[in-house]
This record gives sequence, structure tokens and C-alpha cells, in this order.
Amino acid sequence: MISEQRMAASKDWIKGATGDWEIIIGLEVHAQVTSKSKLFSGSSAEFGGEPNDHVSLVDAAMPGMLPVINEYCVEQAVRTGLGLKAKINNYSIFDRKNYFYPDLPQGYQISQYKQPIVGEGVVTIDLDDGKTVEVGIERLHLEQDAGKSIHDQHPSMSFVDLNRSGCALMEIVSKPDMRSSDEARAYVTKLRQIMRYLGTCDGNMEQGSLRADVNVSVRKPGAKFGTRCEIKNVNSVRFMGQAIEFEARRQIGILEDGGKIDQETRLYDPRKGETRSMRSKEEAHDYRYFPDPDLLPLELTDDWVATIKNSLPELPDEKRARFVSAYGLSAYDANVLVAERASSDFFEATAKGRDGKITANWVINELFGRLNKEGKTIETTPVSSLQLGEIVDLITSGTISGKIAKDVFEIIWTEGGSPSQIVETRGLKQVTDTGAIERAVNEIIAKNPDKIAAVVAKPSMLGWFVGQVMKSTGGKANPQAVNDLLRQKLGIN
Ligand code: ADP
Ligand code: MG
Repeated sequence: MISEQRMAASKDWIKGATGDWEIIIGLEVHAQVTSKSKLFSGSSAEFGGEPNDHVSLVDAAMPGMLPVINEYCVEQAVRTGLGLKAKINNYSIFDRKNYFYPDLPQGYQISQYKQPIVGEGVVTIDLDDGKTVEVGIERLHLEQDAGKSIHDQHPSMSFVDLNRSGCALMEIVSKPDMRSSDEARAYVTKLRQIMRYLGTCDGNMEQGSLRADVNVSVRKPGAKFGTRCEIKNVNSVRFMGQAIEFEARRQIGILEDGGKIDQETRLYDPRKGETRSMRSKEEAHDYRYFPDPDLLPLELTDDWVATIKNSLPELPDEKRARFVSAYGLSAYDANVLVAERASSDFFEATAKGRDGKITANWVINELFGRLNKEGKTIETTPVSSLQLGEIVDLITSGTISGKIAKDVFEIIWTEGGSPSQIVETRGLKQVTDTGAIERAVNEIIAKNPDKIAAVVAKPSMLGWFVGQVMKSTGGKANPQAVNDLLRQKLGIN
């Protein structure tokens, strides 16, 4: 009920010829379970490999082969369900979903239908304006992936690669709770982030570990839900946004022309930027679901579920709140740091026993900035948290200025080494000796008699003098000391 009642912010309404429209979106996300082996066989679930290298007799559906449930995949599904604050069903059933496809040798997919392993839950999504929205989860079920047909290797033949056949997928079905393409994008991003924290799906969309079926309908603001269309297999967050925008406008066009929407399955073509019909509801499959006679119902004990629950890591929302309160960070900075678990770990390792804000500033602006520029990640960073922490120490102890610190960072980035040793051996220590600074200040004042009257008349010009002194000391003078001395000598308060 709440789904239908929630209205889009008016900024997200689409203006049509007959007035405003709201977009209603619900997603079915397929997430490949992170696991060494497949859902019902012992063969490798690793991405890639030579075609048909990771195929057991079970995956190839040889007659008489029996599926054996992989306990770790079940654990991963439960872990994901707990991360989505969802109800874990202690009793669930595997069903056969029957259909023919060349890359589905069994002739059916083992999935879960009426009794999935995970029930209702909720994901809190973060929007650009700082607002949050709760998106309901309908269910999460476990199922097998199919193989892959390859059509571009031979002019008249297709090939089948069964490496992916039998890999474990989690299908996560949302309620129709999203009201704009931005919300849908934020939802997939958050879902991906949560699963990466949990270690249950790597979220790699290019490799197909995460893909979404996108259900879209439109309605006049606050009216009853309209008929939806389902856009299949969208494998990038950007394309998903484009597909939703196109599809909503297509439906509004039809409705405003007095037509009606046929419930159908559509495909998004990123090159043309449009969706096109794949099959209508009449052509929809009748899968003839029935419980798989080769598999017993899945029964989980409360203790087993509790053990998994107790082992959950701190999730992004909680971690962000803690970063704000424990380190005094802004919500924005905390958000950047918790985007990936590895970055948040790096930050915490660096911030230990140090000023949180200064450390966050160095991690976000210098390190992340540089990593992005070089196409590197926190896993491949040449500057360790130990080294960055030492740089922060050198700044806070007043040994080097912020400017020199950037030079030291640069040296560590390219050459490695110990920041304090580099500061020592290359003579980069900040000059706090007032005698030396005073000599430099005197020299600059003597060299620029013409500028003195100007700075006395307009004290904001002092920065120019400070800059000259810093330059003449190779950036090593303590900027505060330079400032104080200049003011004193030029008679500026
Ligand atoms: P089915 O079983 O036919 O796939 P579901 O009721 O399970 O249908 O819904 C599938 C997806 O479609 C869910 O993610 C749900 O949120 C979404 N959905 C349902 N109704 C609408 C609607 N009117 N507009 C947009 N999305 C919808
Ligand atoms: Mg469906």
C-alpha cells in the first residue's frame, strides 16, 4: 500500500501535454554470489577461463546427475538478506523453472518461486540533495545462472560456453518504490555497495556480476499504478538511467495520444538510446514451476542464522554515522570514505591516533585525487597508510608546512621511502627559527620599497609579500611566523 501512496518530489515529475506525470520503478537485480564453486556442483565459479573449462557433469546436465547444494552460497544469500534488513525464511523450496534455451542444457533453471530464502527488507538510498528514501525489498531468492551463447565467432554457427552455467545468482526484487531514474541509480549503487561490504557479490557490472531488469510505469501524480513494461538485462547504471527516461516518455506519449500500455518485455539499445519490444505478455513463458524432486526443502536453524548475523561487518550507513561522530567529519566526506570498504579501512588505519579531519582531507584530496588521476585504486596505491600517516604527523607537529607536505607526498608516490627520512635528508624541515625567517623578510622588504605603501594602504596585499618570502625560503618558512613578522615590520595590524 505504501508503495502506491509514495509520491515523487515535484522536481521529478515529467511535463506532458496533458499535465504532470510520475515515473514508478521497481527493479529485479541479479547478483552473482561470490563463491569459489557453483550452486549445485563443485566446479569453479571463477569469471573467464577457456570456454567450457569450468563445467562438471552436473553443469552440463548429463543424465542421472544430481545437484548438491553448496552451503556457502546459502550462507551468502542469508548474509545478503541480513544486510538488507530482511526476514530470513527458515524454510524455503527450490523449484524447476522450465524453458528451452541452447545455453540451458537442463531444460530448466533451478530457482525459488513461492517460498524464497529471504522475504521483505529495506534499503535506504542516498540522493544528491542529502535526502534519503527507503526502498522496500520484496524478496531475495537463489537460482542458477545459464551458460552463454556466442554468435560472433563463426559466420553460420553459434557456440555455447557453459562456464557460467550453474553459478549461483541472487535475484533481489524491490517493491515499486522508486520515483525517478536518479532514485533507481542510487538504489543499484547502494545495493552494490552493501553487497561489496558483505563480500557476497563483487558488483562487477562489466563482467555481468550485477545486472537489472527494470520495471517502469507512469501515472498522474498520486493516481493508481499504471501498466508496467520490463526492460531486460541492463548492465550499467548509466544505461539504466537512460532506459528509464526513454521508456517513461514513450509511455506518456502513448497515453496522451489516447492509447494504452501493453505489458511487455523490452530491450534497451544504448546505441540508439531507445527501448524496443522483445515479447508481449501473451507470448510470456509459462514456466510450469514445480518443486525440484532432486532437492530437499532448505531448512535453516535459528542458531545458524544468528551466527551469520553476528559475523556481519559494519555496513556503510552505520559506518558513515560513526565517521561523522567519532572523527568529526562532514557527512559528505564520510560518504566518500565509506563508498568502498577498502577505502574506509585505509582511512581508519591512517587516522588511528591522529586528527580525523586532517587525515580525511589528505586521504580524500591528495590520495584519492591522485589515484583517480592515475586510474589506480586503494588496492594498488603506492602510498601506504603508514606513509600517509607519517606525513600527517609531520604536518601536525609543525615539522613541515602543508605545501612541503604535498612535495613529500609526490616523492613518496614516485620513489617510495620514509617521509621523515626524506624530510631529514633533503632538508625540507620547516624553518621556525625566527632569525632565519627575519633575514628573509628583511630582504624581501628591502627589495620592494615600491610595494610597501601599497600594502599599508591595502593590507589584503600582504599575501603577495608572504608568497615572496615563502618562495625565497623554498617553501620551508613557517607561514604563520612569516605573516606575523611581516605585519610587525610593515606596521599592519
Ligand atoms: P512478476 O512476478 O510478474 O515479475 P512482480 O509483482 O514480482 O511481477 O513484480 C516484478 C517487479 O515489477 C518488482 O520489482 C515490482 O516492484 C515491479 N512492479 C510491479 N508493479 C509495477 C508498476 N506498476 N510499475 C513499475 N514497477 C512495478
Ligand atoms: Mg519478474
